Amino acid sequence: MHESDARLRMVQEQLAARGIRSGRVLEAMRSVPRHMFVPLQERGSAYTDRALSLAHGQTISQPFMVATMTESLALHPDDRVLEIGTGSGYQTAVLAELAHEVYTVERDPELALQARELLEEMGYGNIRYLVGDGTLGWPSQAPYDGIVVTAGAPSLPKELQAQLRDGGRIVIPIGTRSEQELYRVLRQGVEYSKEWITSCRFVPLVGEEGWSEA
Ligand code: SAH
Repeated sequence: MHESDARLRMVQEQLAARGIRSGRVLEAMRSVPRHMFVPLQERGSAYTDRALSLAHGQTISQPFMVATMTESLALHPDDRVLEIGTGSGYQTAVLAELAHEVYTVERDPELALQARELLEEMGYGNIRYLVGDGTLGWPSQAPYDGIVVTAGAPSLPKELQAQLRDGGRIVIPIGTRSEQELYRVLRQGVEYSKEWITSCRFVPLVGEEGWSEA
């Protein structure tokens, strides 16, 4: 099957049929070529219903999880969004289709460089890149309308909370090193409310306000 047909099918069967309702999210995931973000040996599986392996023990999330997280962020076209865990850059591209600017932080310098080269080559001009510990956020560019963490955290990092604009949303998996619950945190003034979304499994968020190195 041609890649664009496989992608339309992915959106229909894995996303729309399972309750992803945002037309903007479905459209973004119809347009981002996921196969470009997966390692060559995994290309044939790019549009299957699962997470895939990246270099250095990391993973590119399952399409349905990317859609769920992105939909939960409820992005407006003029939003500025912070992503922790660039990884392959796939989720970054989806965010870049939906927001005004994306600030993405990755701790692994090789993954960060590879993702950056690919995203620049694809022509995304609204993404800014940082190599470092994303549990500390990206304070000089704060506040953000949305923050998404694509690795599993032991708790909600204080710095991320502080860098969220009033009215903003954080989407983050919180739990143990191997299993987490996905939450959406809403900020209203000094109040933060937390809503459960689903259970999930992400690689650990490693850093000062995350897990220690294995
Ligand atoms: N959204 C990515 C998911 C990558 S997996 C994708 O779809 O491809 C999670 C990523 O988080 C890994 O690349 C890992 O290196 C990174 N990560 C883990 N702890 C981090 C931290 N403290 N700061 C920034 N990135 C981190």
